[in-house]
Amino acid sequence: MRIAIAGCGITGAAAGSFLSSAGHEVTVFEQAEECRNIGAGILIQPSGQHVLKQLDLYPIVKQEAAILDGLEARLANGRQLIRLRYGSGPDSCGWGVHRGRLFGALLKRCRDSGAVIQTNSRIRSFEESSAGIRFIHDDGSQSEEFDFAIAADGSRSILRKVAGIPTHSIEYPYAALWTTSPCTSITDRLFQVIDSTKRLTGILPIGNNEASFFWGLRKTDHSACVNGSFDEWRKNVIELCPAAENFLEPFQSFDSFIFSEYRHAVMSRWHTEKLIFLGDAAHPTSPHLGQGANLGLEDAAVFSQALVATRNFADACRNYTWQRRAKLRYYQTVTRLLTPFFQSDIPLLAWGRNLALPWMPSLPLVGSMMRKTLRGEKQGWLN
Ligand SMILES: Cc1cc2nc3c(=O)[nH]c(=O)nc-3n(C[C@H](O)[C@H](O)[C@H](O)COP(=O)(O)OP(=O)(O)OC[C@H]3O[C@@H](n4cnc5c(N)ncnc54)[C@H](O)[C@@H]3O)c2cc1C
Repeated sequence: MRIAIAGCGITGAAAGSFLSSAGHEVTVFEQAEECRNIGAGILIQPSGQHVLKQLDLYPIVKQEAAILDGLEARLANGRQLIRLRYGSGPDSCGWGVHRGRLFGALLKRCRDSGAVIQTNSRIRSFEESSAGIRFIHDDGSQSEEFDFAIAADGSRSILRKVAGIPTHSIEYPYAALWTTSPCTSITDRLFQVIDSTKRLTGILPIGNNEASFFWGLRKTDHSACVNGSFDEWRKNVIELCPAAENFLEPFQSFDSFIFSEYRHAVMSRWHTEKLIFLGDAAHPTSPHLGQGANLGLEDAAVFSQALVATRNFADACRNYTWQRRAKLRYYQTVTRLLTPFFQSDIPLLAWGRNLALPWMPSLPLVGSMMRKTLRGEKQGWLN
């Protein structure tokens, strides 16, 4: 089949790799001038590692990753809020990876499998008929016709807006500043410090003695923060999280910090007649549960396998929806419910969180559900 993909991020590159390897003719349209290995740290869960095995990228990504045994969160007074470990199985660990290194491996795999990547190609809409689909470029020109297309254009997806599928969206008032740098203070876990529901910071080791650091803040406070005194801000961060001192040492300004907003959207279905939404384009969430990239990788694998099994776009979409619905709804709902407990204007939620969270991992059923959720292995509310 002739297949177009809008967006060459983690999901688009993974889908391009799977579909080209299966013998399809794939063109990936990416808005950026070039596909660059940029980004901060992301946590690759056992669920995402499983997809990297299918792409033959498991050893390459693993050798550059930090192997993590779980996550830890502390309160501003130093008290431990939660220590959640992945478990004791052979693949029970998370990988802290530089998004750029993961993306570089996926991009090479996508190109090697034969997909054509057209950069500088921003897609603004599409036209579909029973015969096929054409993308409309930003300058109004049309692409050639494809048998079907994939929207992998990320959490701000333009295609989601023009597809006309009923969607419930929320723009979070909170965002994050993040960057990467050498760091030796935290090496084996995702480490976060939280003060009420207002101040949240974290360090994610990403291998090669580096870590990714983030600082949560209200979107409306962003310009005051980066235009204010860097030294004052650093003092404030180190006071909250002394482990960040080692990380922040080389920085003199906010120049290399990137501002990232997040949103949540629930689509009533994930496809039209000739277009399917995968990854953040289909189900953006806040990053608090660390699952977005893993879900995008799985979407690409499951859809590609559904196409192999059905050999027909409409049936592949139905098969994909049947396989993914319960899991995606579960992770979207849990992330949506948890987010205000960590970043919101309701400090009362912190009180309940501080009371319950330290005990929850040791409760038999709850603890195992939390570990499964973290590993990306929950298939829905009932499993
Ligand atoms: C601060 C932060 C921390 C995170 N931490 C984690 C984590 O620890 N673990 C985890 O699993 N996930 C994490 N995530 C989420 C993760 O980054 C995303 O879920 C993942 O990148 C989604 O991949 P994607 O390919 O679907 O979308 P994206 O990575 O957003 O890629 C979309 C691509 O489409 C291109 N594009 C957009 N619009 C168009 C257009 N109109 N035409 C052509 N091209 C277009 C973009 O340039 C981009 O290349 C985090 C996110 C943030 C913001």
